[in-house]
Amino acid sequence: MLSYEEALAVVLSSAQSFGQETIKLEQALGRVLAEDIFADRDYPPFNRASMDGYAVIAADFENDIKELLCIRTILAGQICKEVIKPGECFKIMTGASVPGSADAVIRIEDTALGQLENQVNFNVSDVKKFQNIALKGQDTLANTLVLPKGTRVTPQVISTLASFGKGKIVVEKLPRVTIISTGDEIIGVDEPVSEVTIRNSNQHVLRAMLMAFKIEKIKLKRIKDNKRQLFEKLKKAVSNSDILLMSGGVSAGEADFVPEILQEVGVEKIFHKINIRPGKPIWFGKKPDGCTVFALPGNPLSCQTTFKIFVEPFLLRCFGSKTPEMFRFQMAAQRTKKTNLDEFFPVALYGTPTQAHQKKFNGSGDITAGLFAEGMAWQRHDKIILEKGDNVDVFLF
Ligand code: AMP
Ligand code: MG
Repeated sequence: MLSYEEALAVVLSSAQSFGQETIKLEQALGRVLAEDIFADRDYPPFNRASMDGYAVIAADFENDIKELLCIRTILAGQICKEVIKPGECFKIMTGASVPGSADAVIRIEDTALGQLENQVNFNVSDVKKFQNIALKGQDTLANTLVLPKGTRVTPQVISTLASFGKGKIVVEKLPRVTIISTGDEIIGVDEPVSEVTIRNSNQHVLRAMLMAFKIEKIKLKRIKDNKRQLFEKLKKAVSNSDILLMSGGVSAGEADFVPEILQEVGVEKIFHKINIRPGKPIWFGKKPDGCTVFALPGNPLSCQTTFKIFVEPFLLRCFGSKTPEMFRFQMAAQRTKKTNLDEFFPVALYGTPTQAHQKKFNGSGDITAGLFAEGMAWQRHDKIILEKGDNVDVFLF
């Protein structure tokens, strides 16, 4: 049986782009750039006053001059062609272009109006060249690469795209996904319950986890543990989806028909059952040149964990995304493993410095297991004891 890393490598090697499309900047949040973005001009595009104050010639102050004649006011967005002469200054506002003849800005707080008209007194002892001026091109020079393809669009990326005039951008296309939950006991959230029915939480959690990637073309189906029904629904799903996510029916139970039927509808098995906990029964396969299938175990924590540790890295790889999959924290307490499996467990992250605190829960069927946790920590198969203070990788929720 494969270890987590071996299985992940197999999953990632089957990842491929779903194509590209052009969208508006307004729709870009959460998507992944499929084009390199270059600066269309220097930033700042001009020598920009970074304070409200007076534009001056710094050398004037070497002669211990403490007052200058104010010639005019320059507001943001105005072009000033006048040349400043020794003994003169321009009043200037934050964001305005500092004329080439001036080489420093003195903030308004260090000045006072003089006795004579247009006279300004300066209460400064030392004026440095280019003080309070953001120099043209100091942040970014024109034609430099500012955002490489594969960048996930965050609000900060949106700001940069807007600054460089990208009202439309090329992004990675999103896959069409079908989620099929199986189980005779599974019912819809609003349906009346009986003693032995279980509400379909997996369909909702999987959908929510996909929506974090902005995936919205999601078909939802629910089927009984019935071979004929499974065959019909799976046949349709694998022909009109890029990804099929199954929940339940992949273990060794008498009603676990999913692996068998997936193969009957033309999906080739790549692996079934791996050395992980929770999530051991996971089944992974692909239709030649078509749908990728993750058949996830039905237990709520197993379902969420296998999505987190396989489906998310797969999606990121398909998008060519450079977003990290895990972050590293220190264990707040020791954890000893009784198995030789790769184990994943929910952790709450808090404290100074932030540490990973293992959450208590009643096995992978515990619907509250992932609640009030910030992610799933990974104890590697050969790491039997994680000591307090040891580093541990965490897949963040
Ligand atoms: P299975 O993987 O089908 O053997 O199911 C394992 C456990 O997960 C059983 O206790 C199921 O009732 C539960 N389960 C299966 N599917 C779902 C679902 N869609 N939502 C919540 N629990 C489920
Ligand atoms: Mg079942």
